[in-house]
Amino acid sequence: MNRILVTGGAGFLGSHLCDSLLEKGADVICVDNFFSGSKDNIRHLSSHPYFEFTRHDIIHPLFLEVDKIFHLACPASPIHYQINAIKTVKTNVMGTINMLGLAKRIKARILLTSSSEVYGDAKVHPQPEGYWGNVNPIGLRSCYDEGKRVAETLMMDYHRQNKVDIQIARIFNTYGPRMAVNDGRAISNFIVQALKGDPLTVYGDGSQTRSFCYVSDLIQALIALMEINEFPGPVNLGNPEEISLLEVAEKIIKLTKSSSKITHKSLPADDPLRRCPDISLAKKKLGWEPRVKLEEGLEKTISHFKDKLSIQ
Ligand code: NAD
Ligand code: UDP
Repeated sequence: MNRILVTGGAGFLGSHLCDSLLEKGADVICVDNFFSGSKDNIRHLSSHPYFEFTRHDIIHPLFLEVDKIFHLACPASPIHYQINAIKTVKTNVMGTINMLGLAKRIKARILLTSSSEVYGDAKVHPQPEGYWGNVNPIGLRSCYDEGKRVAETLMMDYHRQNKVDIQIARIFNTYGPRMAVNDGRAISNFIVQALKGDPLTVYGDGSQTRSFCYVSDLIQALIALMEINEFPGPVNLGNPEEISLLEVAEKIIKLTKSSSKITHKSLPADDPLRRCPDISLAKKKLGWEPRVKLEEGLEKTISHFKDKLSIQ
């Protein structure tokens, strides 16, 4: 049996990943410090015979024995990763060094969940893996995007220098059930606002674009990526359907049948103007592409938030 460590396993993506790995018969150790994750996300797994939880902050060394490591631990929402920017850098740098040191010692394969943020405010559309990005090294988002860039560097250097078996996934905006009500990202904010009848806060004029991937599609790709070990990545994972934030807000108002209006707030500093993945590599290597359409994924996410907010 595969023994698998999931760092950040109590978070949004990590908890879905734990579910899928357990369904596939793996023995899962979930490590999390609950910085942005939640016990609610993993409560249903507490009596599973092959699930184990360890509360641990990965900026400190971790000693255990596994075959594979999915390294997700890192807050993903700008609101969360900016609360304590220095800690975000520590998680990305010291945390990734610790997980790579662990992988090296126990000869485990390790997959890092990097981010489309490494492309920054991209000048190339859609973004292929070969694009080096346009990132502000001293801005408010740097703790995260430069953090992920150095985490990728560490992955590659441990691979080249110490022959650690690695894979880098560059994840583009992903959404779905188990996003926290206070997550602060666009889709969760808009749905919560629409369900409460509050104005939807579109930052700037809403013409900036993102490409939103439903969580089940993304998890499938992560698991497939762990299985192919012919090259170290990076591999873009996301949904290439690009949409403006204003359109997303309008769609959510329609799907929730909300009477909410749209209000505009100032655009955060360094907010990327356009983001869309080139997923040719993932298609070729994994035979993967997203299947869940935005409306379908939004419906499921709306149901999740209705439950959370106790709305019928
Ligand atoms: P999340 O915030 O829900 O999950 C991150 C988890 O990591 C949380 O449970 C948090 O408590 C834990 N964590 C944070 N710092 C830690 C530390 N020092 N020690 C131990 N645990 C720690 O975010 P998510 O959306 O599930 O993202 C998971 C991963 O995927 C992150 O690495 C993120 O950068 C990456 N990613 C996500 C997206 C997305 O759209 N969801 C996009 C790109 C990349
Ligand atoms: N955004 C918005 N209203 C919100 C939250 C976010 O208009 O309430 C915008 C944000 O400025 C960005 C886009 O939505 O242009 C996606 O933001 P999110 O935080 O979801 O992800 P990221 O910026 O990391 O891609």
